[in-house]
Amino acid sequence: MRIMKRELIDSYDRVAKKLRISVTDKCNMRCGYCMPKDNTKWFDTTEVLSFEEIIRLTSIFANLGVEKIRITGGEPLVRPSIEDLIMSIRRIDDIQSIGLTTNGLLFLEKAKSLKSSGLDSVNISLDSFKENRFKMITGVNGLDKVISSIHKAKDVGLDVKLNTVVVRGWNDDEVVEFANFARHTGIIVRFIEFMPLDGTGIWRDDLVFSKMEMIEKIETDIGKVLPAAEQEMSTPAKLYSFSDGKGTLGFIPSVTEPFCSQCDRIRLTSDGRFLTCLFENPGYDIKTFLRKGASDEELARCLIQSMSMKQEGIASLIRINGLKPKLNLMHTIGG
Ligand code: SAM
Ligand code: SF4
Repeated sequence: MRIMKRELIDSYDRVAKKLRISVTDKCNMRCGYCMPKDNTKWFDTTEVLSFEEIIRLTSIFANLGVEKIRITGGEPLVRPSIEDLIMSIRRIDDIQSIGLTTNGLLFLEKAKSLKSSGLDSVNISLDSFKENRFKMITGVNGLDKVISSIHKAKDVGLDVKLNTVVVRGWNDDEVVEFANFARHTGIIVRFIEFMPLDGTGIWRDDLVFSKMEMIEKIETDIGKVLPAAEQEMSTPAKLYSFSDGKGTLGFIPSVTEPFCSQCDRIRLTSDGRFLTCLFENPGYDIKTFLRKGASDEELARCLIQSMSMKQEGIASLIRINGLKPKLNLMHTIGG
């Protein structure tokens, strides 16, 4: 008789396949749509999961059907020896791919070692090609470094994509330039709608520059885009290509076209909370249970039980009471 593998399934029949692990809340940038402006209060080191704890939990998640891992932050590359963590995750049976989301500031020097530690792909975040604006959005200088990181990622053989959050009045006038970047480099640029998860509570619905508005601008300046024939399965990014076949764009319309019904993602925060949804707060304190000596089986049961209570997501928040900014601190969750 074949024994069915247990999985993480919720009451809407969604099964978790992708785990995003935030390895630190610390960051070397202060993006206005993410981080509290004067954040100097990071989690205490003892609050943050150790690599051993992350690896143990990841093995349990893998036993429960998780196949893909994304390492995120804060800025994951400010945590020392992240390559060691990637190498250990690589050794876990059933984990098919490991990706990293980074702001690119520290990536250049680490590109080779990350690739050889077993990293498959990298998403690099960039919201402006203008030096002054880059500084205004992120709070630091370093545009050249980030652009060099993008090219370096490609050179060392990583699958690379760009993440671009578009905020009305901040950078919506650069959407066409980003689309042209995708056409010239062959790198997929994924445009992300501004979500109500910023650290200072600045989110307002009129700051959301929608997917439809982005497409309108791109079509006016460059030409028609159509949904790509090959879509990446189970990702919130809807892929579009140009009729001349040059360049692919992704759109993540989390606000105007929520992806909740197909969501297969779960999250582990750096301070050891299990989030079944990006909008869940505070989530389930799996770290305390683990540190009290819970066995793998007890931890697995706790994860299964938490997952069964996963809420519908942002789609229902919009339906029930419209969207309100939530101080859910994106840098502690990792996007
Ligand atoms: N520091 C890394 C980086 O910036 O890529 C990883 C963590 S960051 C929280 C992950 C992704 O979330 C980034 O691409 C960032 O642009 C995006 N992000 C942060 N706050 C957001 C918000 N309020 N709405 C939409 N995307 C956001
Ligand atoms: Fe840091 Fe990334 Fe948040 Fe920017 S988006 S503040 S780089 S965690």
